[in-house]
Amino acid sequence: MVSFPFLPCTGKRWGRAHMLGIALMALSGSLGASAQGAVTAAGNQATTAIKVDQVGYPQKGPKVALLSAPATSFEIKRASDGAVVFKGQLSAAASDADSGDQIQAADFSALHKPGKYYLEVPGVGRSWDFSVGPDVYRRAYYLAMRGFYGQRCGTAVDMGPEFPEYKHAICHQKGEFHPSSGTAGPRNNIGGWHDAGDYGRYVVNSGFATSTLLWTWEIYGKRLKAISLKIPESGNGTPDILNEARWNLEWMLKMQDTDGGAWQKQTSEHFSGFVAPEDDDLPSEVIGTGSAPYKSTCATADLAATAAIAARVYLPFDAKFAKENLDAARLAWSWLEKNPDVLFRNPSGVSTGEYGDRNCKDEMLWAAAELWRTTGEAAYNQYFHQNYAAFLPSLDKPPAESWSQVGSLGMWSYALTRRKGTDGKAKAAIRARTVTAARALAERTENSPYRNSLQTRDYEWGSNGGVAEYGAYLLIANLFQPDRALVDAARDNLHYLLGRNTFSLSWVTQLGENPYQHPHHRPSGSGKQPGPWPGLLSGGPNAGRQDAELAKLPKNLPPAKVYADLTASYASNEIAINWQASLVFLLAGELP
Ligand SMILES: [Zn+2]
Repeated sequence: MVSFPFLPCTGKRWGRAHMLGIALMALSGSLGASAQGAVTAAGNQATTAIKVDQVGYPQKGPKVALLSAPATSFEIKRASDGAVVFKGQLSAAASDADSGDQIQAADFSALHKPGKYYLEVPGVGRSWDFSVGPDVYRRAYYLAMRGFYGQRCGTAVDMGPEFPEYKHAICHQKGEFHPSSGTAGPRNNIGGWHDAGDYGRYVVNSGFATSTLLWTWEIYGKRLKAISLKIPESGNGTPDILNEARWNLEWMLKMQDTDGGAWQKQTSEHFSGFVAPEDDDLPSEVIGTGSAPYKSTCATADLAATAAIAARVYLPFDAKFAKENLDAARLAWSWLEKNPDVLFRNPSGVSTGEYGDRNCKDEMLWAAAELWRTTGEAAYNQYFHQNYAAFLPSLDKPPAESWSQVGSLGMWSYALTRRKGTDGKAKAAIRARTVTAARALAERTENSPYRNSLQTRDYEWGSNGGVAEYGAYLLIANLFQPDRALVDAARDNLHYLLGRNTFSLSWVTQLGENPYQHPHHRPSGSGKQPGPWPGLLSGGPNAGRQDAELAKLPKNLPPAKVYADLTASYASNEIAINWQASLVFLLAGELP
């Protein structure tokens, strides 16, 4: 039994603009496993008072675990036989206002020998197992990318022998135009990724997520090209990260009308129940603004930017597909010149995610920058030159990037452009401001007890996505001016997501010894699989408490603790492709 209470958008910076208000009667789950401590792979009881990155620590660089119970010393033991390999003293306690925890640090950076270990504190207990090695995040990257494969729509999905029960039959095979699109009849819009815990597909969020993966390839391709994701296209000569991104990109291209504009989204009129993808029989409709020109500026500009990146990224692998993207990007730009200000609001009778945005100027800037970088044509450079200055201050407040804030992406792409004619003064300003802000951010991160970049106000809808976006900001700054401190701070944000947090919880499903269990995610909640679909990042703690499960938590709970590992907690435990893409970027940045 489900109900669909509509909750207003609160204008969250990172959160999705829509809220999936589902009251679940039959589903349960609790934080019990992590709150009480659970059993490690070796059958030992671990304590959540010790917080480690449950995936591990790269061999080179800082290695720090955190402790929220008073103690003086710690030992690192080999997981296979309990032999002590390292002894150390804990730091003095620091008070963390956001969680209410007293935190001590266990620094074992001097341990370099690869292996599997755990940390033990006399009188407190032992941690989950973790690895030290030269390439500890490879599997995490693999699982996070496979998370996108699991979100594929319009095809049967099978996660393979590693997760034998995780499969779904072909879904959402019929598309049609909703009256708000300005046309009628069937539409062959099969494909794309399910956006989040629901089965909608949204051009705006697809733009951010897909382009983040394409950027990941452009920046870290050398590290990624040999990694097989074991997807149907593997071995076809194109790197798998690009094979996966293409699945969604092809759907995005189908969302473009012949005049160049892109419709906002393709969803049912309201959210489906908690059923498996193949069991959702609500019509999948192409939804527009409800009046001429029916397409929206932000969606069209996001499509233009993403297709422009694709035009250069796919060129060495499939020139025809690259050209198709370039044509789409140019056509979209020509539509934008005529329609620079068409905002989207859900038309009457439609209650799925809106991804509404009151200002599409940043999307236009991004599209112009990517088109300039790809084509070298003066008109795009001129648009960028005339408009970028207003966005420079946004770089001073990281993370400057999210699905609704893409001016930073435009500026960064421009600053990475090597084309003759690129404005050197603009490039220098963008680089300098990004690096200055990132250095301050890195310092703040290292000085915070949990060593993440979040400030008190950041514990809002999608805070874990925010953690990943902070990490991505630091890595971009490192491209402009390589600095080990920036990479280390980015890695500290990754440690937070993978278990070094107040709950001692890995926020990626099926990763680490104590991962969260109950994402707000229809395939995982359909009851057809024994646990959550693998590789998916949770939205994370959210002091905004916009769902009933969070509202029930004690009133005086500090913001970092406002989280419920419950399927019904859509405001703290949903998954979404934009957060997922930032996680992939962060993981790729930490691969050797
Ligand atoms: Zn589907």
